[in-house]
Amino acid sequence: MGGMLLMITGLAGIVFEWGKIGRILAATCMVLGGISMLVSMAVYFTAGMMSTSATVLVCPECGKHTKMLGKTDRCMYCKTILTFDPKYAPSENPEETAGTSVSRSETTSST
Ligand SMILES: [Zn+2]
Repeated sequence: MGGMLLMITGLAGIVFEWGKIGRILAATCMVLGGISMLVSMAVYFTAGMMSTSATVLVCPECGKHTKMLGKTDRCMYCKTILTFDPKYAPSENPEETAGTSVSRSETTSST
């Protein structure tokens, strides 16, 4: 969010009429602010892309496709804990949950 501050500084430079040097400074601040805002947007976009490339599997409880981030996550629809690590599996029938939820589906988008 430093880009926002730089842009505000740039606008302030125009508003308060700092003279020629002030205007150059203001323009520089605005350009730098714009660039840093674009960079942070790109970072958020990349993070979003990363999350879509998470493991997709079929939930053993509701049969719907759900995404898994990391080793342990919950189903988006029924909140069932899905895990690759059997020790984090729910206490009721741990063997069955570990066996079925671990099966990777091939629908993972290859991006
Ligand atoms: Zn589910």
